[in-house]
Amino acid sequence: MNKNFFSLIIENLSNFNLPFIKTSGRRSYSYQDMIQLSGAYANALTKMGIRKGSRVMVQTEKKIECVWLYLACLRVGAIFVTINPSYTRSETKFFLDDSDPALFVTDNNLRYREVLDFLDQDSHTKAIYLIRPKGPCLEKTASMSASNFRSSHCLGTDVAAILYTSGTTGRSKGAMITHENLASNARALAEIWNFTSEDILLHILPIYHTHGLFVAFNTVMVAGASIFFEDRFEMSRILKLVPNISVMMGVPTHYARLTREKKFSADLTRKVRLFVSGSAPLSSDLHRKFEEQTRHTILERYGMTETNMITSNPYHGQRKPGTVGFPLPDVKIRVTSLETKKVVENETVGRVEVRGPNVFKGYWNLPEKTKMDFTADNYFITGDLGFIDSDGHLNLSGRNKDLIISGGLNVYPAEIEQIIDSLPEVSESAVIGLPHQDYGEGVTAAVTIEPGLEFNEYQIKKRLREKLASFKIPIKILRLDSMPKNAMGKIEKVVLRDLFKNEYSTNS
Ligand code: AMP
Repeated sequence: MNKNFFSLIIENLSNFNLPFIKTSGRRSYSYQDMIQLSGAYANALTKMGIRKGSRVMVQTEKKIECVWLYLACLRVGAIFVTINPSYTRSETKFFLDDSDPALFVTDNNLRYREVLDFLDQDSHTKAIYLIRPKGPCLEKTASMSASNFRSSHCLGTDVAAILYTSGTTGRSKGAMITHENLASNARALAEIWNFTSEDILLHILPIYHTHGLFVAFNTVMVAGASIFFEDRFEMSRILKLVPNISVMMGVPTHYARLTREKKFSADLTRKVRLFVSGSAPLSSDLHRKFEEQTRHTILERYGMTETNMITSNPYHGQRKPGTVGFPLPDVKIRVTSLETKKVVENETVGRVEVRGPNVFKGYWNLPEKTKMDFTADNYFITGDLGFIDSDGHLNLSGRNKDLIISGGLNVYPAEIEQIIDSLPEVSESAVIGLPHQDYGEGVTAAVTIEPGLEFNEYQIKKRLREKLASFKIPIKILRLDSMPKNAMGKIEKVVLRDLFKNEYSTNS
């Protein structure tokens, strides 16, 4: 049987006339349009010599044409490699060298010329614009191509995409995602989140990342649902569109912004049936504020580039703030000891490991690294720490690399951050370990403060002491104007650690 993920989407569609996408530029596309456009792009790629297994690297702003290109790659059986458009020249060169694509697609003049400079004469990589008003580009070649295209035959284990990890420590790695990874995850999410063809999803996420590309698009497509495709998160647009949507997927930063907007009320959101959050921790405090304001309980889920989605809070049942819920159908998780590598009891923090059809095939060109990150019985070691609570919900305690060892004791940042975030004057917090002569690492909190409210380090520490053992109390609480964050709203602790690395150099 053909396991090409595109074929699964088509098999599931009950009606090709269903609406698929409405863009912020007021263009509308049905599923029939999607089939024709992706077919035309697939023919255009084929004309350019792209075959099954060829890599097609894409670096563009959020554009609808990029969606047709993604689907065309699936149909051809080519490997879609997408990278963040804000990567610099040298970063882009690294990704080009690493993935060695047959085609590089961009919408940026400068990047196009830079890439031509990188490529030596005998390079097999061609560069092309995605769209441009004048001159050749992929969109024009597609518009002159036939729209009929027979999707290639794929095995479930064939690679459909390579997504690069954000690489905040060390080099970025290309995660090879198979057709089966995409299909199993899309089916599971559509099922547990009750997606139907009636649904309209508000799409405000970037599409070079697993959240906006796979979680949002794939789940919608296997359900035959539709999308309001917005270039970016713009409050006036959100307020206009929300009364007519049924689902929104966002990162915690989006929800924080929405709770600051008075017009974003229970009345405005009354037709919405689901708000999903992921990619970064959603504080219990924000969860509660959003519920008070809108009467909607955000559903938090957990996943990563390498594994697609792993757990989700239930659609029906308790969505427990501060937790990421239960494993998806067919996905297994376990928590193991950092020292013994044996499975630990509930409520004990350890490494989160995952196995299932959602887990990637390995890191592109890095077989040794891939081997190191899997256990002998084929569980992927996520690099996250966490515990399973008495109700069976997975709770995350931070990345393993963010674990603080202070005076020989393990300190898990998430436990402290959750308490600091619940304080009314605090907008956000990040707890990090900084070099310290006595403790090895000194527990340190960075906070941003709500406008108009007062920052008092002594008071924050006092309140922490009521709940936490003394070795977990931050030595210092640093006030910041804003948190360094990446495009997915994740706080960049590496940046914070670097910024404040000399904070205790005199052990003040
Ligand atoms: P990425 O590969 O960019 O999607 O990043 C994956 C990482 O984001 C995970 O390994 C987690 O550390 C973090 N993450 C994703 N979802 C959540 C969540 N709901 N709560 C806390 N951290 C999350």
